[in-house]
Amino acid sequence: MPVRTQAVGLLAAGLAHDLNNMLAAIITTIELVAERSANEDDRLDLQSAVDQAARASQLIRQLLAFSRQETLNPVVVDLSAIMLALQQNCTATVGRDIRLDLVAAPPVFVKIDTTAFERILVNLLLNARNAIRECGRAQGRIRVSCRRLTAAELPSNGRSFMPDKSYGCLTVEDNGPGIAPDIAARIFDPYFTTRDSGHGLGLSSAFGLVKQSGGFLLCDDSLLGGARFSIYLPEVAEEIRPTTVPRKGCGNVIMLVDDELLLRMSAARALERLGFRVRQAADGEAALARLETERPALLISDIRMPGIDGVELARRARAHHPGLPVLLVSGFADERARVAIPGVEAGFLEKPFTTKRLEEAVLHLLDHGNAHPASH
Ligand code: ADP
Repeated sequence: MPVRTQAVGLLAAGLAHDLNNMLAAIITTIELVAERSANEDDRLDLQSAVDQAARASQLIRQLLAFSRQETLNPVVVDLSAIMLALQQNCTATVGRDIRLDLVAAPPVFVKIDTTAFERILVNLLLNARNAIRECGRAQGRIRVSCRRLTAAELPSNGRSFMPDKSYGCLTVEDNGPGIAPDIAARIFDPYFTTRDSGHGLGLSSAFGLVKQSGGFLLCDDSLLGGARFSIYLPEVAEEIRPTTVPRKGCGNVIMLVDDELLLRMSAARALERLGFRVRQAADGEAALARLETERPALLISDIRMPGIDGVELARRARAHHPGLPVLLVSGFADERARVAIPGVEAGFLEKPFTTKRLEEAVLHLLDHGNAHPASH
């Protein structure tokens, strides 16, 4: 990285950490006020303030990513499996007017933070979609594919600097206009954009995240006619491939519902550390809205919440997604009896729980569903 970019990176990182702390305090305070307020209009206004703060926090994450200062939780995952786990999200990002093909490969294990991976992939897909739409291509096409690459197969545009080893490679290519030669050298620069509504942070943050993960992000022309972006992540040795986390669970989505922000955040962090991608919701209504568009691998919900409680949420979620595994949590021991009522069929975890217990309960449910309840 040039010295000037490095300095901007340090500045961005310093600012981002301070701003994030302030935003966390702002969000917590607003949520406390919202809890005390009986007025529905006030609660809606406060919620939109929280939404804005959350958007600001997203922007800060982009800055941290570009400056390579983000705290990542890399886990060992099969690149193909994580790509397929993201299929629904990819389709939603690209939209129905563009044909999207996902091409999987035999397992290839790499080490990456799965949430960061999702952001990289979404950024590349958004760019491909925007490029196709802006050039007015009638039949847009995007292809996402995975493969294992041996040291002898390194790409010509990376051979001079990529260490000789095997890699897991994920490629996103489109049939848009491609990258014009006069801007090719600048597309990874922060704030470089050719789009009216662009921020110029998509590629720079993706580049930062890939670098921080020990990989490479390269761009060349696609056989489809447009641009091709490829992420190369070093393949991990067989000895350190996962034994505790089921390979299928990695990269899967968990929907986590709890009205207590701090508890939710710490459980989310623990799950992300295991390689799951976590969708958070502060109440049953928000969770149901999200469940309309996405089926998670598991729903974890607090039982006692304002509005729809956890047991009711589980019922409604299952009406939409039959067989969805559910783990209900509660600080009230008597809730276990409610969960045991026929028809609910959910796992139960008593609060407070340790990360280890949460992990055991989650992995058990992912392996067996709710058919064979285990006591936690
Ligand atoms: P933004 O998308 O906000 O412009 P990015 O950093 O993601 O910011 O991209 C920077 C620039 O790179 C874009 O403005 C565009 O000119 C170019 N670009 C990125 N992806 C593609 C693509 N798939 N096809 C054509 N041009 C692209």
